[in-house]
This record gives sequence, structure tokens and C-alpha cells, in this order.
Amino acid sequence: MNHAISIENLHVSYHGNEAVKGISLTVDPGNLVGIIGPNGAGKSTFLKAVLHLIPRDKGAVTVLGNSIKNARKKIAYVPQRNDIDWDFPITVLDTVLLGTFPHLKWFKRPKKKDKEWALQCLERVGMQDFKKRQIGKLSGGQQQRVFLARALAQNADLFFLDEPFVGVDAASEKTIVNILKELCREGKTVMVVHHDLSKATEYFDQLILLNKELIGFGPVSEVFKPDVMEKAYKSPFTLRNEIGVTM
Ligand code: ADP
Ligand code: MG
Repeated sequence: MNHAISIENLHVSYHGNEAVKGISLTVDPGNLVGIIGPNGAGKSTFLKAVLHLIPRDKGAVTVLGNSIKNARKKIAYVPQRNDIDWDFPITVLDTVLLGTFPHLKWFKRPKKKDKEWALQCLERVGMQDFKKRQIGKLSGGQQQRVFLARALAQNADLFFLDEPFVGVDAASEKTIVNILKELCREGKTVMVVHHDLSKATEYFDQLILLNKELIGFGPVSEVFKPDVMEKAYKSPFTLRNEIGVTM
């Protein structure tokens, strides 16, 4: 069986400053993986470089045994909210329809069946009643659900989400997490940049702990431990588990 994703010796720098240093890891299908680490640790850079949205200095990435270029249709990416232009005059439905574009020829207008599929995806995230709304005129949680619907519309095998819970209400967060867990049960692979450590053990199967370098990687129980976390956060670290007991 192919790995869902295989990363070897990934290096990225901005103007000579290394932001990601020598990361190697493999993730198998069906995992919900959290990418954690302090602010500026290179989490977003890592994700963008894996997807080849920014140049790499070095490194090889394969997705389900293919190059990123050949696997692009199988990958859905939801950027960090600051990277999205919320003033763009586009409706909720059209935003989701963009997710079906890999399946459309560029010169074709979306067909009825594409619209129906987009609406089904909106229904799955509970946003079907907002289909005509401009995306800027939604709450943070609604916006994130629409972008998840767009990713679903793409029918991808791998999902990459960058801080999907920032500015999101608790109900939307729950809806999104439940859908991500469902996707993993269907055998898909989901990688989520996430900085709220309080939910890390509840949400994820595996963690990638970054601070430029790979500090920890593996099952949550192996990474979410004070001695490992301290190496990334560089301050005495106390962790609370779900019932609020300090470990
Ligand atoms: P995180 O997502 O973990 O907060 P980032 O990947 O956004 O971290 O940033 C990692 C480092 O790279 C930070 O020091 C940041 O200032 C720098 N950086 C990010 N994007 C750029 C860019 N476009 N140009 C120059 N430096 C950048
Ligand atoms: Mg980031």
C-alpha cells in the first residue's frame, strides 16, 4: 500500500532565512493529523511547501505514490483565513462550485449535476440555506464550513486545512471536526494546522510537532507529552488532558 504522503528532507527558506529544516515523515491513509508548534514555527510554510504552492530549497514529496503535480486533483487545501480575500464578490454556491472545477474542462460552464453536487456538499456542512450569500457576509464559522464544503466538492483523497478553527464558533468547530473524522473513516487523510493545544488529544490520531525542525511525530500519546512539547515551545510546559488534570 502506498503512503498517503511521504516527505523527505524538506527545506524551505525566505530570503536566506530557513523556515523549515530537513523534515522527513510519512503518513498512512485514514489518519487525522494535527500540525502543531508555536507561532512562526513554520506550520503554514510546511503545508504550502508540501503542496508546492511555494518553492522548496530541497526535498521530495509524494502523495499516494505520485508527484504532487500528478496528484493535485486528489488534494484539497483550505488556506489560513488571512490568505482568503473575503471581499471577493462571489456567492457561497459559486465558491463551492470552484471545488468541482478539477472535474470540469476549463471551457465548460458548470452543469446541473455539478450544482447538485455542490449543494449536497453545502448540505453536509449545514450551509445550504446560504447558497446565494456573498462569502464576506457570513460569520467566521459559516465561512470555514463553506470552505470545507468546497474541499468536499473536490472529492479529494487528501485534505489540508490551515487553522480552520480560528474565529469559529463552538458549534461550527464541532461540525467541522465530525466531518473530518468521517472523512478519515472513509479512508481519506486529513492534515490540520492547529494551535489550540487544549483540543489536540481529542481531535487527532497523530501529531506533527514543528519548530522549524521536526520535533516530534507520531501517535498523539507519544508526542503530547511535556518532555517532547517543551522542546518546541521552549518554556516549562504544563499540559492539561481532557478532564483538566495537569500531566
Ligand atoms: P506558522 O504558520 O507556524 O505561524 P509561518 O509558516 O507562517 O509560521 O512562518 C514561518 C516563518 O517564516 C516566520 O518567521 C515568518 O515570519 C516567515 N515567513 C512566512 N511567510 C513569509 C513570507 N512570505 N516572506 C518572508 N517570511 C515569511
Ligand atoms: Mg500559520
